[in-house]
Amino acid sequence: MSPNPYAWINESLTTIHRADWYRSVQTIHGRPGAMVIVDGREVINFASNDYLGLAGDDRLIEAGVAATKQFGTGSTGSRLLSGHRELHRELEQAIAQFKQTEDALVFSSGYLANLGAITALVGKRDLILSDEYNHSSLKNGAILSGATVIEYPHCDVTALKNLLNQRQNYRRCLIITDSVFSMDGDLCPLPTLLNLAEEFSCMLLVDEAHATGVMGKTGAGCVEHFGCSGKQLIQVGTLSKALGSLGGYVAGSATLIDFLRNRAPSWIYTTALSPADTAAALAAIKIVQQEPQRRNQLWANVDELKKLLQLPKLKLVQQESPILCFQLPSAAAALEAGKQLKASGIFAPAIRPPTVPTSRIRISVMATHESIHLQKLVKALSSIYIYSD
Ligand SMILES: *Cc1c(COP(=O)(O)O)cnc(C)c1O
Repeated sequence: MSPNPYAWINESLTTIHRADWYRSVQTIHGRPGAMVIVDGREVINFASNDYLGLAGDDRLIEAGVAATKQFGTGSTGSRLLSGHRELHRELEQAIAQFKQTEDALVFSSGYLANLGAITALVGKRDLILSDEYNHSSLKNGAILSGATVIEYPHCDVTALKNLLNQRQNYRRCLIITDSVFSMDGDLCPLPTLLNLAEEFSCMLLVDEAHATGVMGKTGAGCVEHFGCSGKQLIQVGTLSKALGSLGGYVAGSATLIDFLRNRAPSWIYTTALSPADTAAALAAIKIVQQEPQRRNQLWANVDELKKLLQLPKLKLVQQESPILCFQLPSAAAALEAGKQLKASGIFAPAIRPPTVPTSRIRISVMATHESIHLQKLVKALSSIYIYSD
């Protein structure tokens, strides 16, 4: 008898378990917010990307409901066939205005926006230089494009410059990077990257997924934070984090966007964003622009938490965003810390390989956290670190 061709899957799962890399879902009940119910228990939520607390906001919900009543639940086709609505265009124009770019294009997710943009921009004869800590969607977009991909050490502009000396062997070159790194919370050196891109005649794509709504004076992202608005570059982002909805986008020159509408397969061959998601994202962008106090409160919370965290035992990874990480010696230790935090009413995920090279607890601060939430977090964290010695 021939061996079962699927038997390896179970063996592979056993290996994943043995390494403490096994993952499974946890059920969240009710609306998202600073407090959520996980496994029947109310906990303070430090696990969410909903930085401004908009995903549970009545105005987004009402916009989604109204759009569903008017336009239905599904958009029924791809944008180029039957799926395009005036609402999509309104959202794209709102994104372009927010980002100070000529135009924008919405995708069904941030992941698909990266796949679509990268595969449209480069191919076999081209070079991609990619930060080693980039998000999975950038890495897989690079692989899918068929270009030669070289990773440079995290944020190391000297190493990047050395690699750029190979630039002339390729037709086109694209540098890709997260702007706020999703698992570390630090920022890419954007002004230097822009200078290098210009010097070596390369395109630069920045992924503003964790920066949109959070970084910069008006919340437009790291491009605004670094004073680089209006520069030639390709900005990608998501509608699913601070904007509280679902979807992704590319923002840039009118020519770039027109080209992507013709060449990005993950935009052309997929169903258009649903009316509800589109309307909710549009409502979120308006709120981000009209209510800077939400962003100010988020940063006030980050500052307060950083002050509270000045404890000798905590190994806080340096960060400049609402993402804070605490290194732990192993995947098992990170899992145990996550479990203990949950027992003390704190919901904060253990992030382990292969997502990141080193295990950690990752905290996301929200605008809607209250002082008492931050104090409880610090109390819970310090007790864990005492026991883990
Ligand atoms: C979350 C994230 C994405 C994916 O966005 P989705 O809209 O969730 O698909 C892409 N890039 C980065 C850096 C992210 O953090």
